[in-house]
Parts: sequence; structure tokens; C-alpha cells
Amino acid sequence: MNIYAFLPYIAGVFSLEAGFYILIKTAKTYTLRLPYFFAALCVSSYCFLNFGFIQFIGYEDILVIWTKIFAPGAYLTIPALFNLMLFVGGQKKGAVKFIFLLSLVLGLSALLYQLKSFSVTFSYMTWGSSISILNFPYRLFLINMFICLPAGILLSYFQRDRVCKTELVKRQMNFILLGILVANIAMLFDVLPVFGVNAYHAGSPLIAIAFISLLYSFASYRLLDINPLLNKVLLVILFVAPLLSLHLVICMLLLESQNMVFNAAFSVTVISGVLLFTPYKSFIQALTNKIIYHGRYDYQKILQEVCQSLISMLDLEQLLDSILHLIIQTIDVDKVAIFLEDEDKFSYKIKASFDIDEQLKETLIIHNNEKIVERLKQETRILVKEELSQFETKETVKILFDKFTVIDAELIAPIFFKDHLLGLIVLSRKRTKHMYNQGDIDVLNAFVAEVSVAIENARLYGEAIVDGLTRTFQHNYFYMRLKEEVARVKRYKRPIALLMIDIDHFKNFNDTYGHQAGDLILRNIGNILKTKLRNVDIAARYGGEEFSVILTDLGSATVDKNYRQEIIKRHMHDAILVAERLRKAVEDVTIEFEDKRLNITISIGIAYYDGADDKVNAEQLVKKADRALYQAKQDGRNRIVFSAEQA
Ligand code: GH3
Ligand code: MG
Ligand code: MG
Repeated sequence: MNIYAFLPYIAGVFSLEAGFYILIKTAKTYTLRLPYFFAALCVSSYCFLNFGFIQFIGYEDILVIWTKIFAPGAYLTIPALFNLMLFVGGQKKGAVKFIFLLSLVLGLSALLYQLKSFSVTFSYMTWGSSISILNFPYRLFLINMFICLPAGILLSYFQRDRVCKTELVKRQMNFILLGILVANIAMLFDVLPVFGVNAYHAGSPLIAIAFISLLYSFASYRLLDINPLLNKVLLVILFVAPLLSLHLVICMLLLESQNMVFNAAFSVTVISGVLLFTPYKSFIQALTNKIIYHGRYDYQKILQEVCQSLISMLDLEQLLDSILHLIIQTIDVDKVAIFLEDEDKFSYKIKASFDIDEQLKETLIIHNNEKIVERLKQETRILVKEELSQFETKETVKILFDKFTVIDAELIAPIFFKDHLLGLIVLSRKRTKHMYNQGDIDVLNAFVAEVSVAIENARLYGEAIVDGLTRTFQHNYFYMRLKEEVARVKRYKRPIALLMIDIDHFKNFNDTYGHQAGDLILRNIGNILKTKLRNVDIAARYGGEEFSVILTDLGSATVDKNYRQEIIKRHMHDAILVAERLRKAVEDVTIEFEDKRLNITISIGIAYYDGADDKVNAEQLVKKADRALYQAKQDGRNRIVFSAEQA
């Protein structure tokens, strides 16, 4: 009995258990679970193998059998881990299957080689304990480690549709594929001795070719932001390198003293322990983030510049759209929703989103008193579900994130402007299924801080140009836009129509039912204008109970005098149709006020401008429409008059 043997034994059992746990419980699909499972299986065989080496030392016969049982699994460790990386990183089925098969062939070849020619003593040489080019498993490991693994990560990165858009990237991806393929073929040469052919060195030139191919593809592409990629490669190297060196040092030291027991027990325990020890992984992750993103200041500067341009963007809708795009570009995320405080100040509604159901957008409302709002106000920081789950109860996390299940929310960033919660940005999981790291959170924090100012600006501007009662534009804004539109007509010859709308007998109405009822009517008409017009049309409250509407883009004008009248007639027809639609809508609506059912009508005057007379200005156009409106009143109200002056 050797007490040390139980260290790798326990590690092996632990790893096996982890493997089965993964298979049963984690990840969404079996295709995702299987590689994890295989990886765990390989690690546990490696552990058991080492248990045997320690325990059965001196019992050569048992050791031979033991080795033959567990060696194949152990030699599959690196290919399995490699596949795992591919799955996690890329998930392109074809490539993964291809490389998995290759690894399988390699693993089986290793087994074959082992059965044929390895003596027990020779197979006892674990990684690093003896660097021999003849040691196939060791070579397999080396190549996988230093060529295939980084290449696989590269491959998975490039393969994502998002990145692989251009021909250049596709071409470079081909070079990566070529590199992997050649490296794998090179490894196959190592198996030839099984068949009595001594051709170890034939593989070396191929390895060189693989290297050149990979280097070429890597070096020639400079446009890509390779930071996330470097981060991944570095993560793997940092993760494995200390283990390897430790192993190497200990093996060399202990081999010297022929103390195999310590050697195997220590290395196996460290490796299996560390593989399952997430804090170590988090530590390495944080370290790589620091190394890779130390130049983040530059990155933040770019971000700030982008945000500067956002600040001058006053159209809220356009602004949110830009924000959305920036987020999607910076963080590879599936779904995004931007909630903003509603006009009622009691709730937050989705004002912009990416890949979220239209219907859902309407119905998903976060109320002011909900736990998540309270929590965000209290913590004023980004909340990540996975992080929260580590120190909060399941229920708490559920309460906070339940509402966002449909978005698959993983991260919620509050948008604060001077202690006031303007809104929240909700992100789903990353497309790579990776956790959000500190780097992402730093970027998001900087981004949200800038964006909040832009949103507040746009909101204030919106409030300033919109009339509070009717939610149509204010007089000043209307004039500014009318002047712009008139100038545009002059330049591009795309005619407009101007509608002046006045409520009929409104004084009477006010006197009879009171000003409150009158205000309700005004609000309703504002609503009708907003819903019955196209987005490009501009509706405004011209004054008291008068509205004005600019119908833009009626069609093209003509310079041909013969046709001009005909075109005007057509546009006149279109403008009258719109006006009629408005008039009818107002006439049809019944407003309930203190048990009374109220009806109202409007009169409309229309002026038309096609740029033929370039001396016409905005004020003249308004006067013209006003005269038509006066005519409509004269003719008996609740009707439309098209200004005759033009034609
Ligand atoms: P008509 O236009 O058909 O000739 O008759 P009218 O009675 O509507 O006449 P006018 O257009 O001059 O109406 C002005 C009235 O509109 C005065 C006022 O009672 C009402 N009014 C103007 N602004 C408001 C407002 O903000 N709220 C309410 N409730 N009434 C308003
Ligand atoms: Mg009036
Ligand atoms: Mg009136």
C-alpha cells in the first residue's frame, strides 16, 4: 500500500464525477456537454494511470495490464481539451467534427503504438519527465499544445460569421485550416514505426510548413481587433504553463533521486486539482485581462470620441439606435434591450432593442417599485447574473432577473444621470456563451457614463420642442422645420403641402363644457395627428386650438409647363386625401367627459408649394394656408379648402 497513490486516485474519482455531472446537468445541448465529458474522462484516466504507476511499482505484470487499460484515455487528454476549446469558442459543427475525428485517430494511434512497442518503464515517462522525440505521447501533446490549440482558438474565432465577412478573412482562415491539417498529418508520421517504418523525421518539415501557414494567416491580418483573441490564447498558455513548469521541475528533481512516488502523485494532484479549481481559472482570467487590456486607455479614448458624437445627437430614436449598434459591435451579444423611463415616470419601457420580439417590446414593462429597480438604485453598478448567483440566494437572483427571462438576461446596466435612474440596458448571454469578464464591465461602465449624458440631452431637447398637452411639436420648432422644408423644395423640387387646422366653434365648446373638456379635445386631436400621419410628416400645435401639418415628399415636381397642372392636381388629390382622413377621424371620435359624450369637428386649409416660384417663403405659405382655412370656415366649417392661389 502506498498512501501517496490515493492522491491521484481521489483526483481521478473527482474528475470522473465532474464528468458525469457535466453530462447530466450542465450546458444546453448534448453536443456541448460531450466534449466536456470526454475531457473529464481523459483527465481521470490520466489520474488512474498514475495511481497504478505508484501503487503497482514492482509488480510489473499488473502494471502492464493497468497501463493498457488507462493509457489510451490519458493520451486523449490534450486532444479532448482542444476540442473542448473549439466547442466553447466556435461551435461550427463541421470543423469541430473534423478535428475531433483527427484527434480520435491520433489517440488510437498512440494506443496502438503503446501496445506494440512501449515497455512499462518507457510509458512511465510522464509529460516532461523525459524529452524524447521518440516519445509519441509527449510529441502529440507538444504539437497539440503549441500549434493546434492556439490554431483551434484562432479557427473558432475566425469562423464566427460575424468576423468572417470578407474574402480576405476567408482566405486567411483557409491558411489556418491548412496549418492544422498539415500539423496533424505530421503527427501521423510518428505512428509509422508501428508498421516497422522508421520515418520520424519526415514529420518535421511538415511541422515547419504548418507553422509558416499559421504564422502567415496570423500576421497578415491586421484589421481585426485581436485583443480578445490574444486574451484567449494567453489564458490557455498561462493556465497550462505554470503547471507544466512545476511538473517539469519536480519531475527532474525527483527523478534524480528516483523518487517516482512523489513525482507522479504530486503532478497528478496538482493538475487535476487545478483543472477543477475555478478560483485559479478566475485568477488567470483576471491576469490576462490586465495584460491584454492595459492599453485600454486607448480603447476608452475611442469610445469617448464616439460618445462625443452621440452627445450632439438630439433625436432620441436615432441616438438609441446608435447606442444599440455600438453595444453589439463592442460586445458579441445575442439580445439587447434598452429600457427608458416612461413619460408617466412610473415605469421603464423598451425603447430600442436587438433581436427581441416586437410584441414582447410592448408588453415588457418594468415598474418603479420592482426589486430590480430598487437594487440598481441602491447599488448603482452593473449587475451580472452569474456573479450574483455566487453570493446571493437562488430566490433573490430569480426575483431580480425573472422579468427578463424572455430576453435571456445575463447583465443589467443602469443608466444614471445625476442620481436619477434614466433607464437600463439589458444584455443576454454572450454569443460565445462565455461569462462577462471584468474587461467587458469596464467598457460598459465607461460607455454607459457617456451615454447617459447623451440620452438626457436628447430627452430634454425632446421635451423642449414638444408641446406638453398635445405631444405634437411646438410652434418654434414647426417654423424651423417649415423653413428647412421650403429650402429643400427649392433645391430638390419635391413639393410639400401645408395644412392649417382649426377647431370649429371651440370657444362655444369651452364655454359650454369648460376648459378641461377643451383640453381633452386638444389632447385627442394631437393623438389623431400623430397616429394618422406618416413618420416623415410634421405635426405641430401652431397656437391655442390651431394645428399645422407639413406633408413632405408628395412626389416629384416637373419643370415641363404642360404637365405641371396635372402633377399639381395629383398632389392636390393626395394632400386632400390626408386632410380628409384627419377631418373624418376627428369627426368620428367621441370623447367621454364627466358622463357626457362630446363630439367636435375641424376645418382645414391647404397650401401647396412645388418650388416653381423661388421667392415664396415659409411665412407666405402659412398665410396662404390660413386664407384657405378662413374660406373653409366661411363655407360652413368641418371641411377642407385647397388654396386656389397656386393653380
Ligand atoms: P371657429 O374657429 O369655428 O371660427 O370658432 P372658434 O370658437 O373656435 O373661434 P377661435 O378659433 O377664435 O377659437 C379660439 C378659442 O379656442 C378661444 C379659446 O376658448 C379656445 N382655446 C384656445 N386655446 C385653448 C386651450 O389651450 N385650451 C382650451 N380648452 N381652449 C383653448
Ligand atoms: Mg382659432
Ligand atoms: Mg376655432
